[in-house]
Amino acid sequence: SKSQFGVIGLGVMGKSLSLNLAENGIDTSVYNRSEGNEAHVVSSFLEHNSSFKNIQGFTNIDQFVASLATPRKILIMVKAGAIIDLVIDQLLPYLSANDIIIDGGNSHYNDTQRRYSDLNKNGIHFIGCGVSGGEEGARKGPSLMPGGHPQSYKLVAPILESIAAKDTKGNPCCTFIGKDGAGHFVKMIHNGMEYAEMQLLAELYALLSTSMTNEVIAELFTSWNNSDLSSYLLEITIDILRKKEGDDYLLDKVLDKAGNKGTGNWSSKTALDLGVPANIMTSALFARYLSAFKTSREQLAKQLNHKKSKGLTPDLKALENAYRMARILNHHQGFQLMQQASDVNSWELNLSEIARIWTNGCIIRSQFMEDSILYLKSSNDLLSHPSIFKTLETTEPDIIHLIQSGMINRVAVDTFWSAYNYWISMTTDRLPANLIQAQRDYFGAHTFERTDAPLNQFFHANWDSA
Ligand code: NDP
Repeated sequence: SKSQFGVIGLGVMGKSLSLNLAENGIDTSVYNRSEGNEAHVVSSFLEHNSSFKNIQGFTNIDQFVASLATPRKILIMVKAGAIIDLVIDQLLPYLSANDIIIDGGNSHYNDTQRRYSDLNKNGIHFIGCGVSGGEEGARKGPSLMPGGHPQSYKLVAPILESIAAKDTKGNPCCTFIGKDGAGHFVKMIHNGMEYAEMQLLAELYALLSTSMTNEVIAELFTSWNNSDLSSYLLEITIDILRKKEGDDYLLDKVLDKAGNKGTGNWSSKTALDLGVPANIMTSALFARYLSAFKTSREQLAKQLNHKKSKGLTPDLKALENAYRMARILNHHQGFQLMQQASDVNSWELNLSEIARIWTNGCIIRSQFMEDSILYLKSSNDLLSHPSIFKTLETTEPDIIHLIQSGMINRVAVDTFWSAYNYWISMTTDRLPANLIQAQRDYFGAHTFERTDAPLNQFFHANWDSA
């Protein structure tokens, strides 16, 4: 009999999603490019999962397509980039009008916009679907961010919603995000926010390590994780801090060079293009880039004459508050970025719904995300909420303490610093941009507005004459 759903690509994610589909009673066909002598991907997948009777495997794309009920519903789960186009080109000759292709990879939203309109011309529905939750999420329930046409989404909604994680009320962590590339855009920003959430924890770990063992840090984080600060990333960090290999902590042996697959980079580039000051996620991205200069760092560290001062032992309550503050500001910047993109692309993003589908299944799920559902229902600007503003205001001395502790202990805390600078500037009525405007007018006659004249009137001055 025909399968209800097809998955192309049996990598980490494709395998897990296929099992998730099959477990939810969805007859599934899977395909991976042809088996070479050394890689029997499809047959070994079928062998390892022979208890699932509703999975059929193929190494032949035409047979794979022929095994699907029409309209065909096909999830492509391969390496993002040009390979997606390649796979679509391979598929197209076998598809008919009204078939549905879902790209579940981390594709750039501009590529998704292009593929969406190209495939529309062929009568094929195209859904760019952000998937978060890693291997475990894919297997047990990911957070899904589908974008495309609402009618296309309707055709696959029951299937996607059945495999998605569920929120606290039992609703699926999957909702139609918006047209064309909106789903992949939102997934990209999710990852940008994730970079910052991870780096904040890394900076805290570095700072705490100056006076605490991994186990004691894990205890502290556990107490935070039992509060409003709880999150999946904090939870896994506790496990990581505790993991031992013999007598040693495994973390102490992990090389300090951070990798990335590009979605953080895209988020920051997009923020630059949209004119949104997402400096927190960008600091986190630069911190990863900087870590890659391991050899130079080692050489320069050897040259450094002055000994690390045994400085200030940080006040733990202050660090906790500073962490809360930086996280709120990171979420605020991420949501602002989505709002701006929504306005520019007419996506009509529902930020509260996006927060809701990020409360389970995805990597940045947290208590604050849960709280944000309600905040974002009444305003898309988190800072406009009096209780959030009050929290940030009262936390200022604590983030100053964190930054001072970092500086005295020679621990870089760029991401906290970026969050604090953002907060200072956003709550400063008069910034030194007057000097920037004067400089621009001086050398380039770019003109300026005046505080003592109506807005949108532009003046030029001869700055070098007395
Ligand atoms: P893997 O590297 O595990 O799998 C990649 C898949 O792509 C394999 O099935 C591979 O086939 C296939 N592939 C690679 N090159 C080609 C090609 N030229 N033609 C056809 N197929 C090809 O990746 P993941 O499963 O981790 O990721 C898949 C997608 O999901 C990516 O876009 C990724 O960014 C995204 N993603 C990943 C997450 C994760 O946590 N891993 C989370 C969310 C999204 P073969 O085995 O034959 O090489």
